[in-house]
Amino acid sequence: MNKFDVIVVGGGHAGIEAAGAAARVGAKTLLLTHRISSIGDMSCNPSIGGLGKGTLVREIDACGGLMGKVIDKTGIQFKMLNQSKGMAVRGPRAQADKEAYKRQMQKELLSYPNLTVQEGAVEGLLYETNDGKNKITGVTTALKEEFFAKTVILTAGTFLNGLMHIGENKTVGGRMGDISCTGITPDLIKLGFSVGRLKTGTPCRIEKDTIDWDKTTPQYGDETLTPFSYETKDFHPHQVPCFLTHTTEETHQIIRQNLDRAPLYSGQIHSIGPRYCPSIEDKIVRFASRKEHHIFLEPESLENDVIYPNGISTSLPLDVQEAMLKTIPGLENAKMLRPAYAIEYDYVNPQELKPTLETKRVENLYLAGQINGTTGYEEAAGQGLVAGANAALRAQDKDESFLTNRTESYLGVMIDDIITKGVDEPYRLFTSRAEYRLSIRADNADIRLSEKAAKVGLISKERAEKVGLKKNEIEGLLKLLQEDSYAPSFLREKGIDGIQDGARRSLFELLGFPNIDLETLSKVEPKIMDFSGPVQEQALIAGKYQGYLPRQQADIDSFLKEEGVFIPEKIDYKKIGGLSNEIVMRLEKYRPSTIGEALALKGITPASITALLSYIRNNK
Ligand SMILES: Cc1cc2nc3c(=O)[nH]c(=O)nc-3n(C[C@H](O)[C@H](O)[C@H](O)COP(=O)(O)OP(=O)(O)OC[C@H]3O[C@@H](n4cnc5c(N)ncnc54)[C@H](O)[C@@H]3O)c2cc1C
Repeated sequence: MNKFDVIVVGGGHAGIEAAGAAARVGAKTLLLTHRISSIGDMSCNPSIGGLGKGTLVREIDACGGLMGKVIDKTGIQFKMLNQSKGMAVRGPRAQADKEAYKRQMQKELLSYPNLTVQEGAVEGLLYETNDGKNKITGVTTALKEEFFAKTVILTAGTFLNGLMHIGENKTVGGRMGDISCTGITPDLIKLGFSVGRLKTGTPCRIEKDTIDWDKTTPQYGDETLTPFSYETKDFHPHQVPCFLTHTTEETHQIIRQNLDRAPLYSGQIHSIGPRYCPSIEDKIVRFASRKEHHIFLEPESLENDVIYPNGISTSLPLDVQEAMLKTIPGLENAKMLRPAYAIEYDYVNPQELKPTLETKRVENLYLAGQINGTTGYEEAAGQGLVAGANAALRAQDKDESFLTNRTESYLGVMIDDIITKGVDEPYRLFTSRAEYRLSIRADNADIRLSEKAAKVGLISKERAEKVGLKKNEIEGLLKLLQEDSYAPSFLREKGIDGIQDGARRSLFELLGFPNIDLETLSKVEPKIMDFSGPVQEQALIAGKYQGYLPRQQADIDSFLKEEGVFIPEKIDYKKIGGLSNEIVMRLEKYRPSTIGEALALKGITPASITALLSYIRNNK
């Protein structure tokens, strides 16, 4: 009755994708979470996606995940960010209807095959010890119930010893209105895990009808909309605007006068928050010369009157928060529905993890989401997917893993970053973290990941076959574009002007010119228009980036040749000739999973990497 293949602890964004992935891979899965009604809750901003993060959502979707499908059904404003910049750095983003999002998510999960969803507060880990090695066997709850499984995934978010701060007031809880979890951290410490503390924060919430909207500027979504999910058809969501206002000199003065009452500056909060998502007091101190800071007023839902003022997260006392609002254009008479607050919570050093997100220390225990020192719904969801798939494969004794490296996905970039370098502040994904971002774009996640996902059962074979057909069509179109070459005089006759040098060029080469697109080229080769929009899009990108993509592919090939090489789990470093004792000790301590990870460790020399590589090759 209480026995499962996989237990997922926590129904946040990581837990949802972990449970979904494990169930899709065929494992009998239990999702244990505090409250079913809070599954899919957005603790902070009502939005999904953005730069880098939007690509991640597409990748999750390419692997059959839930986030993209659900936001397509419940988003209330969709935008492709960086539309005017290169295709490699564009990111889909949606304003979410928070209430509809979590309701839809709960509906999806509660009817998911292979998945049981149950309420319970997990307060302890069950494990067995053999020959000094620990192996997880299950979890216990606050009511002393025991649940057993072959693998366990912890996705406790900000709930481990969560402590919220509003000025001098401190309240225990994992999120406003929620309890915290005190039992898991002591077990993790007992098992030898390195546990630290991080911080994040959220702004107040405001009542819609108390805002003077005339003093703000509307911000609209796109007119031509692209859904997140490859499975979404007929996409015509009802869109609403957000509104822009800003802080003033008066706001900044109030904050400066009260800095000694800000937990961040009074010494009450010691832990580090997300540098790229600073609180308003942090912005005033760090960017002292700025006269104003943007505030986006975002509706939380079409079902209520709650507005999220994006940009003024703080932990200043309530009276200071009230005074600040009065100085912001449009918010002079705003009614605060809920105060802003900061939260401190425990996280586990992600260097404790393998690329499968299984812990190195305890067999069959996996960690995903904010517990690994990341921040953001999308980052959590991505890790959940990877942990869920791998925990399910292990639980079914399958001799394979679901791994993706940094040359093929943002999932790979994020996991590689956190497990090799660790974190000293909440980790957030950016396009700049991906060195191969020309190749790993939001538009080609299905092409990059479908085959891999289908191999382990994350998506159906039929879905992967459809992507295979799309790949073939892209190749067909590229071939068509490269088949013949044309003289400028011929092109001029067809209305394609501006090429003066007399050189013959293929249609593919012509795509490299800034003002030439496929529609223009169809004057020469009308068959181009027989291909579908998504197929044309891929050929267009290949044409526009023809000067860069082959170079990037060469970099990827050389990376894969060496850095991507996996190090066998049971390798005996002492047997490798040419490694100093110090290097053997370091490698034994961190047990890197790939050559790339070994390279990132401090003190590892190029000579030791050469020795390691040749040992792996000779002992294959
Ligand atoms: C106040 C606040 C401000 C934030 N601000 C930002 C921000 O500005 N930018 C940003 O990107 N991200 C922000 N975040 C973080 C964002 O909410 C998280 O990154 C994301 O939700 C993490 O997802 P998760 O699944 O790891 O955890 P969560 O979304 O926190 O979900 C954890 C889930 O697990 C359940 N749970 C926890 N412990 C147990 C247990 N022992 N037993 C049973 N169930 C359990 C909880 O009830 C919850 O449902 C903020 C979070 C908070 C709380």
